[in-house]
Amino acid sequence: MEAQLHKSDTLNMLGELAAGIAHEIRNPMTALKGFIQLLESSSGDAYSLYFQVIKTELQRIDSIINEFLVLAKPQSIKFEYTDISKIMNETVSLLTAQAVLHDVQIKTIYDGELPDLMCEPNQLKKVFINIIKNAIEVMSKGGFVTVTVSQAPGNRIHICIKDEGEGIPAEQIKKLGEPFYTTKERGTGLGLMVSFKIVEEHGGTIEIESEVGHGTIFHIYLPVTKETSD
Ligand code: ADP
Ligand code: MG
Repeated sequence: MEAQLHKSDTLNMLGELAAGIAHEIRNPMTALKGFIQLLESSSGDAYSLYFQVIKTELQRIDSIINEFLVLAKPQSIKFEYTDISKIMNETVSLLTAQAVLHDVQIKTIYDGELPDLMCEPNQLKKVFINIIKNAIEVMSKGGFVTVTVSQAPGNRIHICIKDEGEGIPAEQIKKLGEPFYTTKERGTGLGLMVSFKIVEEHGGTIEIESEVGHGTIFHIYLPVTKETSD
């Protein structure tokens, strides 16, 4: 509990910093991208490998900035009643190409009649993308990612994302959601932090169940009606 509180304080502080810094970095980035494009088009093939690396790294900076921006207090966030299966279907189709590359199939199960959910659809989509992407990435041998959406007690929606990957050792589970915590060579360690923050803003919770060697389940619980806390 104490750890949770601490994490949330850090998140608020990061949120304030994020907006300012992200903005300051974006402007010079735009200039850099423009000039690199010019350089590339006038330098022939000689340095194409270098340009490839430069562009990949610029993209990486971009994605870090974008993830950080989610932490900033959103300016025009609009909660509206939305069909959760629509959000999930859109998410899954965005990730299909990546799943195929990993020999992974994403199965979705919608359990019964689901009420529309009071949410910010694009923010929720980010959460589902991050968590399903992680699931795909840990399944080196392929297999199924199963997404189940059902109703839960307390007028909540339960979204269950289950993978057949390597699992997470118990002592690492508590580190999930810490900024920059990653076990991947090319990871940012920001995806889960952002996801936790968004779910928290929706008044929801995330629970993680994992068994090393068997797989991991992310349980996301979201209230159907958002309580007005702000
Ligand atoms: P990144 O994906 O860039 O590493 P995330 O915040 O998305 O950052 O995830 C942080 C870490 O949590 C991952 O590096 C991985 O160690 C662990 N993780 C997240 N999801 C899973 C999962 N489904 N199975 C195993 N490990 C996971
Ligand atoms: Mg990730």
